[in-house]
Amino acid sequence: MKPVVIVGAGPAGISAARTLLEHGIKPCLIDESLRGGGQIYRRQPANFQRSAKQLYGFEAGKAEAVHRTMDELAPLLDYRPETLVWNAEGGRLDLLHHGRAESLAYSRIIVATGATDRILPVPGWTLPGVYSLGAAQIALKFQGCAIGERVAFCGSGPLLYLVAYQYAKAGANVVAVLDSAPFSAQFRALPALLGQPLTLAKGLYYRAWLTAHGVPVHQGVTLKQIDGEQRVSAIRWAEQSLACDAVAFAHALRSETQLADLLGCEFAWNALNRAWLPQRDSAGRSSADAVYLAGDGAGIMGAEAAHMAGERAALALLEDMAITIDQRRAAWLEQQLAGIQRFRQGLETAFPFPQQWAAEAPDALILCRCEEVRVGDVRAVVDEGHWEINRVKAHCRVGMGRCQGRMCGLAAAEIIAEHSGRGIEQIGRLRGQAPIKPLPFGVQVQP
Ligand SMILES: Cc1cc2nc3c(=O)[nH]c(=O)nc-3n(C[C@H](O)[C@H](O)[C@H](O)COP(=O)(O)OP(=O)(O)OC[C@H]3O[C@@H](n4cnc5c(N)ncnc54)[C@H](O)[C@@H]3O)c2cc1C
Repeated sequence: MKPVVIVGAGPAGISAARTLLEHGIKPCLIDESLRGGGQIYRRQPANFQRSAKQLYGFEAGKAEAVHRTMDELAPLLDYRPETLVWNAEGGRLDLLHHGRAESLAYSRIIVATGATDRILPVPGWTLPGVYSLGAAQIALKFQGCAIGERVAFCGSGPLLYLVAYQYAKAGANVVAVLDSAPFSAQFRALPALLGQPLTLAKGLYYRAWLTAHGVPVHQGVTLKQIDGEQRVSAIRWAEQSLACDAVAFAHALRSETQLADLLGCEFAWNALNRAWLPQRDSAGRSSADAVYLAGDGAGIMGAEAAHMAGERAALALLEDMAITIDQRRAAWLEQQLAGIQRFRQGLETAFPFPQQWAAEAPDALILCRCEEVRVGDVRAVVDEGHWEINRVKAHCRVGMGRCQGRMCGLAAAEIIAEHSGRGIEQIGRLRGQAPIKPLPFGVQVQP
């Protein structure tokens, strides 16, 4: 019999797996990571000894609970760590595990693929020593490494302050935090943010801790340039410059939607996420038959919401299999998720998208580093009359390289929109293509 498959062993995928098991279904849980936990609760290698408190701070209790659940569930599931899902076609998934390709048929699938950083390039961003915020955090959480000795944190979003705090707390030298969002925006967002007082309090704590420990925090300030020859040597903003040997930067997160795309889900423009997202109903059903969506992969809502959405999507799947579920629990989950959605609106007000970025990006700036496409190349294609993003891709190869636009796609859309004088939602979305993540050479793909 074809299994129910869950892709992603983060909070959403783990809670979906637990719910299915509780109802007598043994799912196949696939994740490309070494150990389950997802991004927020990313686990260190088994032989590392740092405590949960050191690794996860305020989230230590939750992280331990998720890891415990994962460890208890693992032997009861068909759990496949270190396995990448790189394609979906005709009711089957293409997998890659330790260099070996495999095809897996599924009956139903829950997509819980999470998110990555949203990158808005600046001159110098391809220099060694420049990381995304998430990557800087992974280095610390997974390996206990800092990305440099004098680290600057730039961009915007809640992760900016969190990762800067985690670095400083771990003993790294954080030379500055540059937040493109002005303080006034955060003040304006307060009423909406008060809907989740505990989360708000944690955010305020990280911000206050940095200031109290002498870390310069500049708000309403945009990183203009990263200087260096062999690697990063300084950052520049306004009229100022600051020496550093590493930079972590990002403007919030973007959902990993490629798999949902290959599975045939319909997408719609989502103004809150400033992105095209796969459509789902309040229970997590997508527009495609037997495909369910949960967690940040279908819209950024955070770990708490991912956990609940995973359970809710699993309940929807069970219901569709004519298995009795607790309807009151399902309704409660949907109500909680709606509340978190309101908080999410507040976060967007607090950390607004830097609208001026596209207009200010110089022509010479590398936009797509896989194909070395510059901002000016994209503008030249727009000047020829093209503005639909897949057409622009065909003309200058932006988003056509190894990352398949996962890194550059959103920034390219911003450049096209600004230069063509259209709204960002009119540019269209880059269609997903397999392989959705890079494959190594030499993989034997079965026909
Ligand atoms: C790098 C990073 C760090 C973050 N750190 C924090 C933090 O410290 N605190 C916080 O509050 N929030 C953090 N967030 C946000 C937080 O991770 C999410 O809100 C939460 O983890 C969402 O849970 P999820 O289950 O939807 O996805 P995730 O936890 O992201 O889990 C998704 C899982 O899917 C797997 N996956 C994705 N695609 C594939 C594929 N094609 N094949 C196989 N496996 C796949 C990934 O390996 C991952 O384990 C972070 C986000 C990122 C990107």
